[in-house]
Amino acid sequence: MIDLPTYDDVAAASERITGHAHKTPVMTSRTVDEAFGARVFFKCENLQRMGAFKFRGAFNALSRFSPAQRKAGVVAFSSGNHAQAIALSARLLEIPATIVMPHDAPAAKVAATKGYGGNVVVYDRYKEDREQIGRDLAAKHGLTLIPPYDHPDVLSGQGTAAKELFEEVGPLDAFFVPLGGGGLLSGCALATRALSPDCRLYGVEPDAGNDGQQSFRTGAIVHIETPKTIADGAQTQHLGNITLPIIRRDVTDILTASDAQLVDCMGFIATRMKLVVEPTGCLGFAAARQRKAELKGQRIGVLLSGGNVDMARFASLLAP
Ligand SMILES: *Cc1c(COP(=O)(O)O)cnc(C)c1O
Repeated sequence: MIDLPTYDDVAAASERITGHAHKTPVMTSRTVDEAFGARVFFKCENLQRMGAFKFRGAFNALSRFSPAQRKAGVVAFSSGNHAQAIALSARLLEIPATIVMPHDAPAAKVAATKGYGGNVVVYDRYKEDREQIGRDLAAKHGLTLIPPYDHPDVLSGQGTAAKELFEEVGPLDAFFVPLGGGGLLSGCALATRALSPDCRLYGVEPDAGNDGQQSFRTGAIVHIETPKTIADGAQTQHLGNITLPIIRRDVTDILTASDAQLVDCMGFIATRMKLVVEPTGCLGFAAARQRKAELKGQRIGVLLSGGNVDMARFASLLAP
């Protein structure tokens, strides 16, 4: 049996990241509230340091390194935001960082990772196994591998976003959270069950790859091919050994959203709320919009998970 992290780990992570991560704003919109006939609270992790919630988990994990681990350095594999989060956290904590990134990662994410001082190693995401590459580098150079989601310190750090939301707005009736490998959702689940136990909690993944939904229903980790979707932060192939049991225990259901719905949400959020949210960051809002009818009169949380999309891509996705 795996020892699963608990809400105490989220609370401890919260203390570690305070003063380093931003306490991101919670925003509301009259237009959205009127359209839903509900009160909708947006937790704006697109305004987190380096542009996504992943800074929380990365900083928490690196803060717990021993002096020997700090000296040898960290290695991470990531389609983007985890890479930047590790690179920035490592720079702040003066730890050398090596990042394994896909050859087709968005240019802005690669540039930002290098800009934070990370040493970038590139691989082909449709042919090579990034986990194996990461593990080989770790073994060869004595580096500590920090995976993007299936790690107790990473997911406990991610859960601090939900902790802050509930502490600021109080209990909710339903909460919608983007889902890739499940670090964000499982961490948020720990915080939700502790701070708003009756809240319905939904994970939302791209419908091009509903492995999370299948795993949630069957209880076994379902592996899929890299899904082809604009939600590059959720192009994961499977949930984790730690994230799935927490998600199965604490999450109400897993929903999906299409690329077209994500584009529509991106445009809506930019126009109405003046916020830049990347496609993956819109998953929660896209699912909430689909379920508008059943949310009437309720208090709803939506986690906007990140805002890292280069402006050329943002413009071309929104072009009519
Ligand atoms: C990584 C990421 C996700 C998915 O998080 P998981 O912990 O892998 O489920 C969602 N949104 C953004 C912006 C991300 O970077």
